[in-house]
Amino acid sequence: ITESEQAVLDEIEANDVDFLRLQFTDILGTVKNVSVPARQAEKAFAEGIYFDGSSIEGFVRIQESDMRLVPDPDTFAILPWRQKEDSAAARMICDVYDTSSGEPFEGDPRRVLQNAIDRAHEMGYTVNAAPEPEFFLFEEDEEGRATTKTGDHGGYFDLAPKDLASDVRRDIIYGLEDMGFEIEASHHEVARGQHEINFEYDDALTTADNVATFRTVVRAIAAQHDQHATFMPKPIPKINGSGMHTHLSLFTEAGENAFHDEDAEFNLSETARSFLAGILEHAPAITAIANPTVNSYKRLVPGYEAPVYVAWSDRNRSALIRRPAARVPAASRVELRSPDPSCNPYLAIAVMIHAGLEGIEKDLECPDPVRENIYEFDEQKREEYGIETLPSNLGQAVEALEEDEVITEALGDHVASKFVEAKSQEFEEYLVDVSEWELDRYLETF
Ligand code: GLN
Ligand code: MG
Ligand code: MG
Ligand code: MG
Repeated sequence: ITESEQAVLDEIEANDVDFLRLQFTDILGTVKNVSVPARQAEKAFAEGIYFDGSSIEGFVRIQESDMRLVPDPDTFAILPWRQKEDSAAARMICDVYDTSSGEPFEGDPRRVLQNAIDRAHEMGYTVNAAPEPEFFLFEEDEEGRATTKTGDHGGYFDLAPKDLASDVRRDIIYGLEDMGFEIEASHHEVARGQHEINFEYDDALTTADNVATFRTVVRAIAAQHDQHATFMPKPIPKINGSGMHTHLSLFTEAGENAFHDEDAEFNLSETARSFLAGILEHAPAITAIANPTVNSYKRLVPGYEAPVYVAWSDRNRSALIRRPAARVPAASRVELRSPDPSCNPYLAIAVMIHAGLEGIEKDLECPDPVRENIYEFDEQKREEYGIETLPSNLGQAVEALEEDEVITEALGDHVASKFVEAKSQEFEEYLVDVSEWELDRYLETF
């Protein structure tokens, strides 16, 4: 038994933990749990916990046969909203193993991310990532169902009393802190009912785990206040949607930021520029993973601070990638602005890393930054600047994914094919549906 495993056993004892939720995510990023009595912790560490993968609901099953969950002791956390006087529940995030081969299961998104991190290690880098998840807080109706009503009329960085949801946000932050999050900032976002909570950057795997946890905590604590927190990208038309900008940087083994060069333009090293070029090159395929719902594409339209065009900038926010101002060399990074919080964070970060590393390996040329507001460009000007457009719907994005070998290889056969299958079906269902908008527009006109 390792030191961190022993630490978990001690915590279980000290906090009267009765139940352990062993957590993993399916391909679509939905968090799955297997609950075991806490006294099985030692066994879980030693042999893993077996479960029947085929009983996992959903179109994309994590596996058809027996799977084994091996908890990562570093992810132990007591669930603050389940804590009572003399009993508690805790969770650990698990790696999934295939029982027949004994190998890590290739359909485990955490494994897909680990492969990307391993590739970076082989090239001499560790990867740091920080997300900026945005979400809406909506009221529930009498039956406890989510509405799109919000009691709050705050705007960007507004304070109370306008910001009625600030109490809820405060409790969410306490809950996150109880689960070990370092909260950097939180604020009301541009849209009514919209919020953002930023937590400290970490290594890529921890950050993906954190996003999965973050969504669970935010929803659980909002529910305690009879509010529904949603990470749906664009719940209300014609106002800002919710993004999950993702900041990335590479560090060398010596602990230096490989993206920083004191003498270079924008302090961006050659490594950073090639990494950035790799992401631009693979942006259409990345979009399928980072923007995986039909609704994601309602956000990626001009005028709402979400990217539409494949370009980068050292300042303006209409570009896909921004190079944020950094106060210290360690903070030099690139910010990809397309991801939204409906994505599977493991897969999204994995494909960004692979695309960037590919750029470094191939020594890709980074285009010039675009400093003007690209939303205002017409087609001719975009052509002049060589600016491509992101896929404009899920169908196009999935096609781009299928055509991009770097990204499908990054996902592995199992995940790539299951993902394409699930998303193609989702898009087809959407295409044959008749929406509220169509009824409003045509029912009485024709
Ligand atoms: N909500 C915007 C988006 O969709 C981002 C707004 C911001 O953080 N400045 O990406
Ligand atoms: Mg922000
Ligand atoms: Mg924001
Ligand atoms: Mg941002």
